[in-house]
Amino acid sequence: MTYALSDDQLAIQDLIRRIAREKVAPRADEIDRTAEYPQDMFDLLKGLGLFALPFPVEYGGTGDMLAACVAVEELGRVCYNTGYLLVVQWVAFGALLAAGTDEQKSRFLPGLAAGDLRGAFSTTEAQSGSDVSGIRTRATETAGGYRLSGAKIWCTNANIADFILVGAKCTGVSGRENVNLFIVERGTRGLTIGRKEDKMGARGIPSCPLFLDEAFIPEANRLGPKDGTGFKRVMEAFNTSRPIMAARAVGIAQGAIDHATAFIRNRKAFGQALSDFQGLRWMIADMVMQTEAARQLTYKAASLVTAGVTGQTLAQFAAMAKCFASDVAMKVATDAVQLFGAAGVSADYPINRYFRDAKVVQIIEGTNQIQRNIIANVLLGREARR
Ligand SMILES: Cc1cc2nc3c(=O)[nH]c(=O)nc-3n(C[C@H](O)[C@H](O)[C@H](O)COP(=O)(O)OP(=O)(O)OC[C@H]3O[C@@H](n4cnc5c(N)ncnc54)[C@H](O)[C@@H]3O)c2cc1C
Repeated sequence: MTYALSDDQLAIQDLIRRIAREKVAPRADEIDRTAEYPQDMFDLLKGLGLFALPFPVEYGGTGDMLAACVAVEELGRVCYNTGYLLVVQWVAFGALLAAGTDEQKSRFLPGLAAGDLRGAFSTTEAQSGSDVSGIRTRATETAGGYRLSGAKIWCTNANIADFILVGAKCTGVSGRENVNLFIVERGTRGLTIGRKEDKMGARGIPSCPLFLDEAFIPEANRLGPKDGTGFKRVMEAFNTSRPIMAARAVGIAQGAIDHATAFIRNRKAFGQALSDFQGLRWMIADMVMQTEAARQLTYKAASLVTAGVTGQTLAQFAAMAKCFASDVAMKVATDAVQLFGAAGVSADYPINRYFRDAKVVQIIEGTNQIQRNIIANVLLGREARR
């Protein structure tokens, strides 16, 4: 298997890199400072037709996960929030593609692909984030559908989404509890969106609580069969999109290196440029080495997806890529702040934005502890629980 970039992938990289520098970079600090949703960046990505990039050609995509990673990396290199716009759209898209009925796919996927619809995904609750089986939101069957009641937190895109895929517990056919996802459309009676979080990183893309009070959801809006297999299929599909999360971290690390190298070339101490101190040169060398290693692992995981690899092999590589790349992003961004000295902690310089965004990536879409659990479980089998 090869994962050198093809001519098509290089063309996507060139295009996005140019647009990122010319149109996205000048907005990045303002988006972070104001924490306002970057509608102009959404419109830019929409105009470029990027919202279906990793998905099948029939939806206007390339079916190429590596191309999607390259695009996210280039955007994340200058503006994490703009890269996140693609990822949020792709999460909803991937879930519907994996478990939706033909009717649900035709209702939502063309709109998501075109950027005419926005989705969101919500499982996390106050008492259960990593442990999805601990959710308390309940879906009770009623004539023609379900009544959903419960409270969610940290739902990204919630206040702007046309629909939210909400995880809720149902009593299955055999009396066992299972988690199902429901398409909860904007304006559904009984759905209230709370105030957005004031976040340390990922500030431009809103994350909000949701409250569901006996919200009626028609049967046609349950994702997958009654027995919870739809939710399982979506979780498996997330293995195929996890390389994108890793690519975002590679972008952060590369962007931090870009800023740090420019800074130490220009700043002088003890009569010479900082970039002439061997200790700092070695720091930069380590940052570049670690970032390239993260990039290679990310590209490898993405190439496995494109090659159709599934199951445990993909689960392990996808987890390794997300975990390693985001740990590298955190380390590299921390070192970059150090290279800036006091300027690194000043809001006048962009570097602390990379530091704050890197921390978020270690936590979201499965924390790095959970990724390590996946990696170890593939190797050793599931850990025993008392
Ligand atoms: C910016 C942002 C956006 C988000 N967007 C969404 C969204 O759109 N939709 C959504 O549903 N959620 C979203 N989340 C929530 C996110 O998915 C959860 O925060 C995450 O899964 C962790 O859950 P938690 O915060 O409850 O931490 P917990 O699960 O309580 O974990 C706390 C700590 O314990 C560790 N831990 C937990 N279990 C284990 C274990 N078995 N072994 C070892 N360590 C463990 C964790 O790694 C972590 O360090 C978002 C969060 C953030 C910060």
